Amino acid sequence: MSEPVVYLVGAGPGDPGLITAKGLECIGKADVIVYDRLASPKLLAGARPDVEMVYVGKASDRHTMEQYQINKLLVEKAKEGKVVTRLKGGDPLIFGRGGEEALALAEEGIAFEFVPGISAGYACPAYAGIPVTHRGISSSVALVTGHEDPTKEDSDVAWDRLATGVGTIVFYMGVKNLPLIVEQLTKHGRPADTPVALIMWGCTGRQKTVTGTLVDIVDVAEAEHVKPPSLIVVGEVVSLRDRLSWWEKLPLFGQTIIVTRSRTQASDLVVTLEELGAAVVEFPTIKIVPPDSYQPLDEAIARLETYDWLIVTSANTVDYLWERLREAGKDARALGRLQVAAIGPATAAKLASIGIVADYIPKEYRAEGIIAGFEERGIAGKRYLLPRALQAREVLPDTLRERGAATVDVVPAYQTVPDQSSGGAIREMLAAKEASIVTFTSSSTVKNFVKLVGEDAPRLMNGAAAIAIGPVTAKTARELGLTVAAESSEYTIPGLVKTVLEYAGTQRGKELT
Ligand code: SAH
Repeated sequence: MSEPVVYLVGAGPGDPGLITAKGLECIGKADVIVYDRLASPKLLAGARPDVEMVYVGKASDRHTMEQYQINKLLVEKAKEGKVVTRLKGGDPLIFGRGGEEALALAEEGIAFEFVPGISAGYACPAYAGIPVTHRGISSSVALVTGHEDPTKEDSDVAWDRLATGVGTIVFYMGVKNLPLIVEQLTKHGRPADTPVALIMWGCTGRQKTVTGTLVDIVDVAEAEHVKPPSLIVVGEVVSLRDRLSWWEKLPLFGQTIIVTRSRTQASDLVVTLEELGAAVVEFPTIKIVPPDSYQPLDEAIARLETYDWLIVTSANTVDYLWERLREAGKDARALGRLQVAAIGPATAAKLASIGIVADYIPKEYRAEGIIAGFEERGIAGKRYLLPRALQAREVLPDTLRERGAATVDVVPAYQTVPDQSSGGAIREMLAAKEASIVTFTSSSTVKNFVKLVGEDAPRLMNGAAAIAIGPVTAKTARELGLTVAAESSEYTIPGLVKTVLEYAGTQRGKELT
């Protein structure tokens, strides 16, 4: 049994990219992860598949678990010899009660480590374009709880000194007490025209920032329906936001996009959409699994020298083909005398990773365009091997045969099956109109989306725009009753991103007019 140890880790303020490298390491090596509400669910993706996850988050209206129970849980799990990672929003020691948890562990003689995180108090202002200190404007910053009733006699906050003694004051947990906070600051001499910003859901796709002064911020908060989790930033630095706002200006900021994809598909799309400012929710509608039998693929591998061309239509095929080649004791040299066609740049890149540079990469990815390139290279009498998904379209092999190919062997390399795990959550999101866009990258993602969300998917999609990677996917979507808002003319992930950007641009345009 290993030495018990508990890592008290800061998960950052919301954007999953704002966790430290050490924090991620602690997630990866944990036997048990004890986590809160504000930590992005995406952070948990790097955990071991057999990890035990315990949610102890506190919503402001109800407590899932009392603090003493959390302390007890950490002690118990550690005593079982487990590596425990306690994940908290922001920094564990800034209004995170990490100190209390550590004291409980210390009392039991259990080893612990603090892994600091980026606190919301300065990260959310940064994402709102507000530097909490700034040469010539503010040379000090205070992080203060706004949870405490500022009018109580023995307040822990020295309001008289805080009001004028610090350049920038950031209040956590202060929305409910905003009127009292404003009153105290004004009463103790902070000028009434001091700028104030309220940042709601900072560092997430839902971030909303409103500004005012000590005079009118209470009215602004009410008019703009400011709710927790929000920060209150008081000080002259707030006025820099006019020039320094950046995150809220990203082209996809404010869009919540559901990305339907297979679990193993490269997350290029997700990463790119996030970089453009979108809040992305992944909906793995399909998973890639081995074919029912490898026999046809294995037999084809055994007679590779009899083919002229190998046609690879997806990166997944490369994975499975490579695995079976290795299983047969072969490597890339076995493909040596074959011509190789890669359908799409991602497939070509994957082939390159096993040392194969494709001889033919069609510029257009529809079967018709692909055939034209084979025509140029001569189809008559040629022998083709086409390993691919079990349920794929027949156009390519049929056309090759029609044009005089000697043989076209289509062998299953993998199959896609519906992924049952997340349909319910997506249904709820759509019903609550929380998503603005749903992207579809293939006909099978559309079919599985409808299957997993339910028969009434078209009705639930009212309010969310379906965007398809190309005409075939769009057609499938229409056949299943979905309204397609846009489809890309270039059937690649960058093409799809371009279409999403154009669509978001027209929506922005509408808002402005
Ligand atoms: N340990 C955390 C703070 C926990 S206290 C940290 O270091 O960031 C919870 C309060 O933090 C909330 O009431 C809110 O005031 C603030 N907060 C946390 N995340 C936030 C976010 N993404 N946007 C705005 N405020 C946030």
